[in-house]
Amino acid sequence: MTTKTRSSRRRPIAIGNWKMHLTVSESAAVAQRLAGLLGDPRRVEVVIAPSYTALQSVGGVLKETGLLLASQNVHWEEKGAFTGEVSATQIKDTGCRFVLIGHSERRVVFGETDEMVRRKLAAALKQGLNTVLCVGETLEQHQSGQTVAVVRDQLKKDLADLTDGPSGKIIIAYEPVWAIGTGRVATAAQISEIHEMIRGTLSEIFGPASAEAVRVLYGGSVTPDNIADLATIENLDGVLVGGASLKPDGFATIVKTLEKVKR
Ligand code: PEP
Repeated sequence: MTTKTRSSRRRPIAIGNWKMHLTVSESAAVAQRLAGLLGDPRRVEVVIAPSYTALQSVGGVLKETGLLLASQNVHWEEKGAFTGEVSATQIKDTGCRFVLIGHSERRVVFGETDEMVRRKLAAALKQGLNTVLCVGETLEQHQSGQTVAVVRDQLKKDLADLTDGPSGKIIIAYEPVWAIGTGRVATAAQISEIHEMIRGTLSEIFGPASAEAVRVLYGGSVTPDNIADLATIENLDGVLVGGASLKPDGFATIVKTLEKVKR
């Protein structure tokens, strides 16, 4: 049995995932413009996840602002012979306070398993990073009515080690794979139902008090045009934005709308 929760005690958050876009100088310029548009957004936490190559330059821009830096990925080992991988210590060293883990593009395109996601989560938490665990069902799973089972299974497997967990450092992003980059957005009823189920599952894992502190976000074709409707979903604590976060004016509108509606 789950209970509907109000998000008003949790600080809203908007995360921009720039994926494999923008050069180092383009990234710094977009960050600069965004920071200029937002000033110091105290009521909404704003986090930017550029490519690895731009972490340092974007980190330098964000340092003087209230905006925070995230990595799009991390490896589970501290160091060693893992060509092409980057550790939690290394991303933290660039100024990252957040890391995305288990994004569907990692799971679907690069074959990341729940076991890998679990290990990444543990490694990032050990370094004190705020972890954004992405979960969500594919179109096929959605159409065959497996959404609840799939998302519950991901949460249970990915959070398996963390039963007494440092849940204050965990954020869950519900991102239906069929909504990412497609222009298809989940309905308010779908998001609300899955967010409620997510909090119920977190409550089983961490206990109700810790679960209550976890922010649960939606991601999947969020734009400046649909954010006003999405933000009214009571148990939505924020958004993870891909394509629309590459345009500073549009992403600033998303942040400001979230701030206004969640007031
Ligand atoms: C994402 O990359 O997490 C995402 C939600 O992308 P988009 O907003 O482009 O659908």
